[in-house]
Amino acid sequence: MPPGVDWLPVAEAQARLRAALSPLKGTEEVATGEALGRVLAADAFARRSNPPRANAAVDGFGFAHESAAEELPLAEGRAAAGQPFAGALPKGQAVKILTGAILPEGVDTVILQEESHVTGARVRFDRIPKRGANTRMAGEDMAEGALALPKGRRLTPADLALASALGIARLAVRPRLRVGVLSTGDEIIASPDLPALPHQIWDANRPMLLALAQGWAAEAVDLRHAPDDPAAIAAALDRGARECDLILTSGGASAGDEDHVSRLLTEQGELTAWRIAMKPGRPLALACWQGVPVIGLPGNPVAALVCALIFARPAASLIAGAGWREPLAFTVPAAFGKSKRPGRREYLRARLNADGAAEVFESEGSGRISGLSWAEGLVELPDGAVEVAPGTPVRYLPFAHFQ
Ligand code: AMP
Ligand code: MG
Repeated sequence: MPPGVDWLPVAEAQARLRAALSPLKGTEEVATGEALGRVLAADAFARRSNPPRANAAVDGFGFAHESAAEELPLAEGRAAAGQPFAGALPKGQAVKILTGAILPEGVDTVILQEESHVTGARVRFDRIPKRGANTRMAGEDMAEGALALPKGRRLTPADLALASALGIARLAVRPRLRVGVLSTGDEIIASPDLPALPHQIWDANRPMLLALAQGWAAEAVDLRHAPDDPAAIAAALDRGARECDLILTSGGASAGDEDHVSRLLTEQGELTAWRIAMKPGRPLALACWQGVPVIGLPGNPVAALVCALIFARPAASLIAGAGWREPLAFTVPAAFGKSKRPGRREYLRARLNADGAAEVFESEGSGRISGLSWAEGLVELPDGAVEVAPGTPVRYLPFAHFQ
């Protein structure tokens, strides 16, 4: 690390960012089927028990356990899902019952079809099961009035199933987070549809960051590309402040001659943090533009992605109302060796091999975008010194969790 500069540890930068942000206000109601990825603004309670009534867990025959016998007369009719048995089952009889059918009055136990033999109007059983066998109790999954999904929860596909099963047709959610993405740099050409001269490069960060924001179930707002010109960057930030709740910029975040993003944010944007002791991605600007938080990511696509995952994603989650969420990490054996010096945290492009050990990309070169694409996660090496040899436990952060 260059001496004479105060490098901010990752955890400290995260803590400052977290303290500076607050969740979006406001609530709207959406249909449960349309609530994927939205953040609950209020606790959601079960409108009805699940299951609403005791029912059969298998296809078979139902009877009252107290009158169970090796052979029982078979009642006429049957109980099927959606087609309940008419009336109560007479004492000492069995009835054909199918999975999901509510238990008729007089039935508390079900025996599997495969363990039963029907002859004429009688059914014989291989064995007599325990009372309550093969049945599901009313409310055994969740009772009416119980807390189904807590405020602040970001809704998953399974949550939509739970809410629907409990009769919750509409959910109170926070407004959808809007994340603006702006690229900066004189060398950047906005799209690979356009020609690029040898000194120009196509914008790799914007499609990546817009896609990431979509993965967070945010509305991704394309703020396009601005050259290294303070007026152009300011105009793009102005638009971002009008249309977004969080702005991600990339490029220009260092302290060089052409690093206009950091200069602008220092002069007009209440810059809150600065050089982060991490690799990749030391220059990182955390600021506020007209009341809207701005995270100035490094231009380098590898660093931009890592900083987006470590800083922008938890920040986006907090603003969306779902709270600051640390990335999920597993401890796995390393499939590589590395001697790491103290002073900064390092994130290596990694993926798990067939043995569940983390292998890392052949190069740590920060310009190797192909390594980002190769990787399925990151290995996080702590701020202090570490000696990693094959088999050493390391922290692995799967990309899948960042969605
Ligand atoms: P900067 O942070 O502006 O100094 O940029 C660091 C490096 O990242 C330079 O090599 C830039 O050309 C490159 N870079 C900046 N923005 C982008 C972008 N949007 N897509 C691809 N590379 C970029
Ligand atoms: Mg630049």
